[in-house]
Amino acid sequence: MSLKSMMPDLFKTIAFRLTLWYAGIFSVSSCVAFALFYFLATQTLQEQTDRDLLEKARYFSTVIQRNGIMGASKLAVIEAQAAGEKRIFFRLLYPNGEVFASSHMSYWQDISIDQGAIRLLSQTKGHAFKTWIIKPHDQKTRVLYSFVAANVILQTGIAMDFQSKFIGAFKTVFSVAMGFIVIFSAVSGLFLARKALAGVKEITRTANAISGANLEKRVPETGNRDELDLLANTFNRMLDRIQDLIKSIREMSDNIAHDLKSPLTRIRGFAEIALVHKDDLDNYRAMAANTIEESDRLLDMINTMLVISKAEAGEGGFVFKPVNLSVLIQEACELFVPVAEDKKIQFTHEVPDQLYVEADARMLQRAFSNLLDNALKYTLEKGRVHVDLLKDSNGFADIRVTDTGPGIDPAYKEKIFERFFRAESSRSTPGTGLGLSLARTIAREHKGELFVESQLGKGSIFSMRLPYRNIPVI
Ligand code: ADP
Repeated sequence: MSLKSMMPDLFKTIAFRLTLWYAGIFSVSSCVAFALFYFLATQTLQEQTDRDLLEKARYFSTVIQRNGIMGASKLAVIEAQAAGEKRIFFRLLYPNGEVFASSHMSYWQDISIDQGAIRLLSQTKGHAFKTWIIKPHDQKTRVLYSFVAANVILQTGIAMDFQSKFIGAFKTVFSVAMGFIVIFSAVSGLFLARKALAGVKEITRTANAISGANLEKRVPETGNRDELDLLANTFNRMLDRIQDLIKSIREMSDNIAHDLKSPLTRIRGFAEIALVHKDDLDNYRAMAANTIEESDRLLDMINTMLVISKAEAGEGGFVFKPVNLSVLIQEACELFVPVAEDKKIQFTHEVPDQLYVEADARMLQRAFSNLLDNALKYTLEKGRVHVDLLKDSNGFADIRVTDTGPGIDPAYKEKIFERFFRAESSRSTPGTGLGLSLARTIAREHKGELFVESQLGKGSIFSMRLPYRNIPVI
């Protein structure tokens, strides 16, 4: 893979996308705020213009009442001149739309009499508004139609140049402000995104620096408990676990190599003797028997390893059936009676009848035999080994193997369940270090557990807890 293809595409980076979102949201919000302000401002201006026009209509109405139509006609001319004939105009009409007086109209020629608006007058409260755009300057004009006497309508219009000026100014302010907002939000967005993602970069750098041989590196933690600090902490803890795992895999492979080496060396020794020395048939037979014995031990070890790893991977192939635990324990105990007798060990058991568990009988027997084997193996001559089976209130059957053996150093209380672990003091006793690991794996496969309680120099109690079925199977 080339370096270039490994470089993250700028447009796909989270920093870039965050910046884009930040700038986008900031700009859209600003646009909405501007639009709202524009709408409110133009609305207010228009309402003010409408109020001015209505005020004019009321004034005309008063003048007509006082001075009649002639007075109003004169007022139209005077008012327009006073305010500016390009700014305002007045027309007086009959209800049929016929004009009978007006101010100077040459600037307002585009504005005709809107019959629609006149018809509307009867439905509204006596006045109607219209907005015109006068060409060629697109001059916006607000026009009012209003009854100022029983049969006189006033049409008056006012140029909304103030509004046009406002819109012009608004456009300038809007474009400058928006330009500034877009640039500002993009720069600050980029700054914030980079600052927020700096921790992620640190984690990436650390992950890249880690290799099989170098697992020591850790991401610096800020301690301020934010999301990135938690991520860094989780990442560091994951590295701790990987480091422990790799260490135990290394130890395990060292142990495997060591444990395979001794029987293989012995097998090789027998073969060499058979090749080099001339011996009688009985000795050859004995050597062949020893070879078979060593090979069986090796095979047994390999099979046990396979059972443990398959069970741990969830592929143990256990077949669960209701099993009478009481019978299973009694039968296993009977098998070990000769061993106990050989060592003059007082071997007793106390097992209630009819206690059922859902189990793979063969596997459970194997686990229990390992516990018995250890108890009898590590207990010195004339010691005691006792097996009992109890039912607890949580629905568990508890198989306990108590011995008066050497006990277990508290430091190794958990270690003894690891594959190939053998306490220093046990090295002189034959064994593979796999028995307890297998027994615990089997207990766990049965949704149970295996623990030990021990006092150094006094003895140990291995306790295997399994969920029991209290319905006997016929
Ligand atoms: P092995 O017995 O083949 O060495 P195990 O996995 O059965 O392997 O046991 C692991 C270690 O735990 C043993 O080497 C021994 O040190 C310790 N151990 C197991 N059972 C007992 C016991 N009953 N009393 C004292 N130590 C024990």
